[in-house]
Amino acid sequence: MSLDAIDFERLASDGIRGLRAYDPGHDLVALRHRFGAQGLLELGSNENPYGPSPRVRDVVLAALDSLHIYPDPLGGELKRALATKHGVAMDCILLGNGSHELLMQFAQVFSGPGSDVVAAQYGFSVYALAAQAAGARFVAAPALPRDHAMPRGHDLDAIAAAIAPSTRLVYLANPNNPTGTWFDRDALAGFLQRTPADVLVVIDEAYAELADAPDYASALSMLDRHPNLIITRTFSKAYALAGLRIGYAVAHPGLVAVMERVRESFNVNSVGLAAAAAALADEAYLQATSAYNARERDALADALRQRGIFVYPSQTNFLLAEFGPRSIELERELVVRGVVLRPMAGYGLAECLRISVGDAAGNKRLLQALDEVL
Ligand SMILES: *Cc1c(COP(=O)(O)O)cnc(C)c1O
Repeated sequence: MSLDAIDFERLASDGIRGLRAYDPGHDLVALRHRFGAQGLLELGSNENPYGPSPRVRDVVLAALDSLHIYPDPLGGELKRALATKHGVAMDCILLGNGSHELLMQFAQVFSGPGSDVVAAQYGFSVYALAAQAAGARFVAAPALPRDHAMPRGHDLDAIAAAIAPSTRLVYLANPNNPTGTWFDRDALAGFLQRTPADVLVVIDEAYAELADAPDYASALSMLDRHPNLIITRTFSKAYALAGLRIGYAVAHPGLVAVMERVRESFNVNSVGLAAAAAALADEAYLQATSAYNARERDALADALRQRGIFVYPSQTNFLLAEFGPRSIELERELVVRGVVLRPMAGYGLAECLRISVGDAAGNKRLLQALDEVL
C-alpha cells in the first residue's frame, strides 16, 4: 500500500473527523515580511498595544539563566499570588498554557459522546471546537436580537432553556468575543440559580480586567454559592503576555483536582510563570493601560459611528463593527494598506469586522486607511 492511500480522516476519532481547525486569520509572519519597516498595523487578534509591565522584562531576563531546568510543575509562586488576589485558596487555581488549553480540557474531562455542551450563538469559537473534539454534541442557544440594547449578546434565558438532562457543560464569555457584549450581575446570578448543580458553568473572563461598566460583575464572587462554576482568566489580553501562553481557572478544589489528572506536568513554561507573577504584581500598570484602552476604545467607537458604521457596545479591547455587504472586500483592501482586521464570516457575521483597539497612533492610522477605502 502506498503512503498516499491512508485515509487519515477515517482514522481520526468521531469527534475530530468533522472538525475544522481554529482559524487564526492571516499569515502574519508573511505580512510582516511584506510590510517591513513601513510596519503592519495588526488589529486582528485583540493583542495589547501597550505591552506588559516594564517589571516583566527583568524577570524574563533572569529566567533565561534557568532554561535548562524544568519549570515548577505546581506553579506555586504564581498560584499563591493569584489566590491572594482573588481571595481563594491555592487549590482553587488551575494553570493552563493559555486559557485556550483549559477550555479544551474542560470538555475533554467533563463531556463526551452522548452528552451536550451548551454555548451561545456568536460565542467564542473555541467552545464548539472543544465540545466536538471531545465527541459531545454542541448546542448553540440563540443570541439576543440585533436591535437589542446588547446586540447579539448572550441571552441567558435562551441558554437556560437549552440545558437538557444530557447537558454537562455550559460555556459563557463575559465580556464575549467576538461581540464585545456583556451581561450583568443580576442576569448571571439568576442564571446560576436556575442551572442544575451538576451542570458545570464555565465563565470565560478573558477580558474581565478591561471591563469598567458599572453593571459588569465577575463571577468570582459567586463561586462560594455555586461550586459548579469555573472562571477562566488569561494573561494574554489586559496583561499583554499573549506570547508566553499563561491562563488560569478559578474553581472548586475538587474540580481542580480532577483536572490535574489530564494536565501535562509542565504545561506552563518557566519564563511565562515568572513573567505572569511580575505582571500581576504591577497593579498600577494594569490600571493605567486598561484606562488607556477604555479611552481609545470609546474614541474609536465614536469615530466609526460618525462614519455611519454600526458599532456594538464593548467592554473589551476590540470593537465589532458592521460594514455591510462590502465588509469582505473592505477587509482585503485594508490588508493591502498594511492594516489587519479580523473577518467574521466564520462566526456567521459576514457583514462585520472585528477591530482590536490600538493605541492612539494605531487608531489614527486605521481611520485614515478606512477613509481611503470607504
Ligand atoms: C483571547 C481569548 C481567550 C484565550 O486566550 P489565551 O491566550 O489562550 O489565554 C479565551 N477566551 C476568549 C473569549 C478570548 O478572546
